[in-house]
Amino acid sequence: MAGAMSIPAPTNLPVPIVALDVPTLDDAKRLVAQLGAPTDYYKVGLQLFVREGPPVVQWLRGEGKKVFLDLKLHDIPNTVRGAAASAAALGADLLTVHAVGGDEMLRAAVDGAAEGGGEMSVLGVTVLTSFDDASYSTSIGVERLRVAEAVIGFAQRARVSGARGVVCAGAEVGAVRAVCGVDFGTLVPGIRTTGGAKHDQARTSTPAAVRAAGATWVILGRTVTAAADPALAYAEIVRSLMG
Ligand code: C5P
Repeated sequence: MAGAMSIPAPTNLPVPIVALDVPTLDDAKRLVAQLGAPTDYYKVGLQLFVREGPPVVQWLRGEGKKVFLDLKLHDIPNTVRGAAASAAALGADLLTVHAVGGDEMLRAAVDGAAEGGGEMSVLGVTVLTSFDDASYSTSIGVERLRVAEAVIGFAQRARVSGARGVVCAGAEVGAVRAVCGVDFGTLVPGIRTTGGAKHDQARTSTPAAVRAAGATWVILGRTVTAAADPALAYAEIVRSLMG
């Protein structure tokens, strides 16, 4: 593994993506209206997609927004290939699949994305940021592997399988860049300002830390969407991301 000193300093700021973790399309439209023009990249995750389906993505695209379809797919390769092709044809820009699904499944996702057309990239989910070392060991029995080591293993597999990058915590971004190269993307959830509530996240990071580490994208959830003034909270986080 390359030492931390050899990793080139980040040159680009992380791209912020706001998570539309709301129940309905109407709720999503209200949140997008509240956030206004400065926010041009949104995540559609399981809560909204299971209820509203493709029209959410089509509506966002019609508004000129980019879409991260965070479906965290994990199934047999043929099924994931078909789902990735459907997501690409729908016009998503990013799609997640669980890297624990294995190399063949990751490759199937990448192939499916190409078959569906468009520009969609596939990201591998490494270890969910809701796990820490203790819960990773006790709740799913991965006893001999620390989270940081598991993340690197998943990232290497995702890279050789053709994924554009991985989802990991801010603390792991430097090691992923060192091992997989600085062009391999990192998307960081669990963004919290100092002293903010962690909710169900265990491996959180501040905007300043992910900027310094060189993350490619950050996903902004409750820190923005549960704020009294989401547009103000978004502007403040973007200011800290810019340094
Ligand atoms: O509200 P909070 O900031 O914790 O939201 C984090 C967002 O990032 C959620 O939409 C969650 O689904 C997403 N996410 C995550 N961990 C991953 C991938 C995505 O928390 N590994």
